[in-house]
Amino acid sequence: MATVDIVVPDIGEFKNIPIIEISIKPGDVVAKDASLVTLESDKATVEVPSPQAGTIKELKVKMGDRVSKGSIIATLDVAEGAATAAPAKPQGKQAQGSAGAGGSAGEGAEGVDAPPAKGVPPVTPDPNLPARGQPAGGGSRGDQGGGAQSNGAHGKGPSAAPAVAPGTGAAKHPDATYHADVLVLGAGPGGYTAAFRAADLGQKVVLVERYARLGGVCLNVGCIPSKALLHAAKVITDAEEGSHLGLSFGKPKIDLDGLRKFKDGVVNKLTGGLAGLAKARKVTTVEGRGQFASPHLLAVETKDGMKTVSFDHCIIAAGSQAARITGFPYDDKRLLDSTSALALAEIPKRMLIIGGGIIGLEMATVYDALGAKVTVVEFLDRLIAAADPDIVRPLQRRIEGRYEKILLKTKVAKLEALPEGLRATFESADGKSPAPAPEIYDRVLLAVGRRPNGKNIAADKAGVNVNERGFIPVDNQMRTNVPHIFAIGDIVGEPMLAHKATHEAKLAAEVIAGMSHHAWEARTIPSVAYTDPEVAWMGLTETEAKAKGIEYEKAVFNWGASGRALGMGREEGLTKLLFAKGSKQVVGAGIVGINAGELIAETVLALEMGADAEDLSLTIHAHPTLSETVFFSAEIADGTITDLLPPKAK
Ligand SMILES: Cc1cc2nc3c(=O)[nH]c(=O)nc-3n(C[C@H](O)[C@H](O)[C@H](O)COP(=O)(O)OP(=O)(O)OC[C@H]3O[C@@H](n4cnc5c(N)ncnc54)[C@H](O)[C@@H]3O)c2cc1C
Repeated sequence: MATVDIVVPDIGEFKNIPIIEISIKPGDVVAKDASLVTLESDKATVEVPSPQAGTIKELKVKMGDRVSKGSIIATLDVAEGAATAAPAKPQGKQAQGSAGAGGSAGEGAEGVDAPPAKGVPPVTPDPNLPARGQPAGGGSRGDQGGGAQSNGAHGKGPSAAPAVAPGTGAAKHPDATYHADVLVLGAGPGGYTAAFRAADLGQKVVLVERYARLGGVCLNVGCIPSKALLHAAKVITDAEEGSHLGLSFGKPKIDLDGLRKFKDGVVNKLTGGLAGLAKARKVTTVEGRGQFASPHLLAVETKDGMKTVSFDHCIIAAGSQAARITGFPYDDKRLLDSTSALALAEIPKRMLIIGGGIIGLEMATVYDALGAKVTVVEFLDRLIAAADPDIVRPLQRRIEGRYEKILLKTKVAKLEALPEGLRATFESADGKSPAPAPEIYDRVLLAVGRRPNGKNIAADKAGVNVNERGFIPVDNQMRTNVPHIFAIGDIVGEPMLAHKATHEAKLAAEVIAGMSHHAWEARTIPSVAYTDPEVAWMGLTETEAKAKGIEYEKAVFNWGASGRALGMGREEGLTKLLFAKGSKQVVGAGIVGINAGELIAETVLALEMGADAEDLSLTIHAHPTLSETVFFSAEIADGTITDLLPPKAK
């Protein structure tokens, strides 16, 4: 074992810069390039990384000390023969509010190449494939009509700072009620996942959540209750449509209290389970509304007064809330948002749903099945605009036959509360074409997207940048412009989806714990509308490929030739695969039909693994299954299909 000095490397013109963060203590094992201390001048924040892997022997500085080039920070025990004299390169970041040197958080640069996933042989990437670090596709729950694409979160250049070593308590505040190695703000799918992963990696975690129940939007008022109600809706419509199978049932008797109880039971089971998991991991949960007081302190307004949490690292996971249109009568209980619609107070006779994106159409599916006459109004010229039109068409055809009206290229210009209902005045999207006459509805659901909560947490007190829309920009390790503060989930950008939040959560927790090789690697984030039929897509869409001039090949299998789909009486689906021209590597997929949300997973794996059409067509799929539709599409691309006539040679 040899001992080497870790010195401040050449940091340009800076001299006597104060140390604002110390991430190590004697005995810590540090990886090469792990950040050891952070220095901050009025121009820049500079992290001093470890020049080699080893164990910290002695710390030679304390918080607030001023250092210059050559100052000794610590001594490091390294394996014999590994000692080198060369100091590491400093990792620079511009001071808050200015553009980033070395690819500062959330700014400018393109995605990075990350190493292939563990256990995966390296694949030579096809130029048409989305690079790792650049999520492709992804329709958000947060967009009206699903229009917005991915965001400011990932693929924004290499992390400006390397991973930091586990918390040192350096930021402990003497008067704080709690101190955390890792403080997590918000307990949605992003927050609780981050808290649990950080705890499993040995960190002392405090999780702050304003509501008594953990789980955030997804578990309490989003993904889970909506899917419970959608299941009930499917049972109702399957029964209704049983006559063509030679089965008929009477009109269903809907016990709203019973249905609500079922949905609430599912939510309670999951959120109660989370509370148990938090306890078992010794995660301290604090109920209250948190706001930053300084870069290392959060003030929490609790039932018992103000509490404070000091922290070495923080992960902001404060999520999003339903967007509003100004001028609507929000104090009228007949105007619903997704939360009040999921509460299922009653079944209206006529219901208007403003927004033809995923959330609007899922709620339309529920209320239509329960017996409401539904109208959907959408500003854009198509429903679920983030997906290709051909995979939305079968859904649109079906709901056109069931709903009262679908109004495209139309907006609600005015909504008035009258004693007999809410009166909607329509206007064409271009403001010139004729629009439908005003109509009165018993209930109106506003589902025009979600906005991030970035402006509600006093982020400025911690020096964290928030953009004008309320998103917090992060780099490809989920780090904000403040090196010890990370952000994940809806608050960092589109697509606003729970599975994006949980993946980002694990990444942030692992980076904080010093797993410095980690960066955002996912090539795509799949999107699913759990409508009937379901619509799912991932990777490149045809719309995007055409807009960007990306050459591709495609194969479409129509479910009319699927024995399984025919046997279910639901042959309106289709499975479309997009391939890179020439190599036939999978670059995108779109599926519409029963269980499309489950089927899309195989195509995501194909994209991640760099599979091509032949890989899929030589993979034996059980017969008869809907999963065969993926395989049949690959066979079409391969020219080996026998269940249909082979495509004409081009
Ligand atoms: C009706 C509906 C259906 C959906 N269905 C799906 C689906 O099927 N699949 C899918 O992937 N996504 C779905 N989503 C989206 C999904 O719910 C979100 O993407 C996901 O919840 C985001 O997770 P998050 O952790 O970023 O934030 P959130 O779940 O929003 O959690 C943030 C948490 O932070 C808390 N918080 C905020 N500010 C503070 C503060 N100052 N102090 C303390 N606590 C605070 C909030 O109370 C909340 O609990 C749906 C959304 C809705 C509305």
